[in-house]
Amino acid sequence: MPSDRDKPVVDLQLDRAHSARIYDYFLGGKTNFLADRLAAGSVLGVFPAALVAARVNREFMHRATRFLAASGMRQFLDIGTGIPTPPNLHDIAQAIAPDARIVYTDNDPIVLAHAAALLRSTPEGRTAYVQADVTDPGGICTAPQLLRTLDLTRPVALSLNALMHFVTDDGHDRAHTIVETLKDALPSGSTLAVSHATPDFAPEAMGEIIKIYADAGTSLQFRSRAEFARFFDGWDLLEPGITLSHQWRPADPADATHVTDAEAACYAAVARKP
Ligand code: SAH
Repeated sequence: MPSDRDKPVVDLQLDRAHSARIYDYFLGGKTNFLADRLAAGSVLGVFPAALVAARVNREFMHRATRFLAASGMRQFLDIGTGIPTPPNLHDIAQAIAPDARIVYTDNDPIVLAHAAALLRSTPEGRTAYVQADVTDPGGICTAPQLLRTLDLTRPVALSLNALMHFVTDDGHDRAHTIVETLKDALPSGSTLAVSHATPDFAPEAMGEIIKIYADAGTSLQFRSRAEFARFFDGWDLLEPGITLSHQWRPADPADATHVTDAEAACYAAVARKP
């Protein structure tokens, strides 16, 4: 009989701040610990709008998913999913299309620990979770759980929300190369939704945030509008093109006027593969 001692030990590193748990704190979640709250407090000290930025980023995911499901997408691959925060992507997609299939991926074991909330699929659809790092795009696309859930010969709605700023280039074009590899793995008609923090509107505060995360052991690279635009090279941007996260197809145009560009500090766009 295997005993508990034979189970793999997962180190959640609760003594260190983790990006998923800092973001959870900003969203008002409960899956965060002292080290995360201290780092989050430092971020709020230099950028009090972090609470707004996190909320409008999350709401971009809601609207983009609703839009894509309503326009016929039935397969979703969400990388850098984050700690479950209702509504999650599958809740939104399956409310519109109960047969939608969703694969979630994150590299933080805290997300795996809470993955049950991501796996409550409708009976008609399916959801799966893959513990993986976006820096291994080939591993994600060949993961058995993914291949059991998604048909990669049919269009897939790929989302990389608030993720790629955790991939630094270090002198190479790492982030864009990874995104190109993922794009290449998907057929015509697939879509790509990305949100990504930018220094374009509040450069000093964003520079301070990079230092706070670095102290916690996490490298960040915020990108300009031109660098963000390059993620979509060769694909057709859907209306309204590249916007700040709160301005992408707001449910009520008045919603987009309550938040400034410097508070959102995050570009967002959705494109389709020709
Ligand atoms: N996409 C969600 C959560 C964003 S928080 C949303 O927009 O609401 C960023 C998430 O990316 C965290 O959960 C973090 O663990 C994950 N992440 C960071 N670096 C990653 C990497 N290299 N591979 C996979 N996931 C990563």
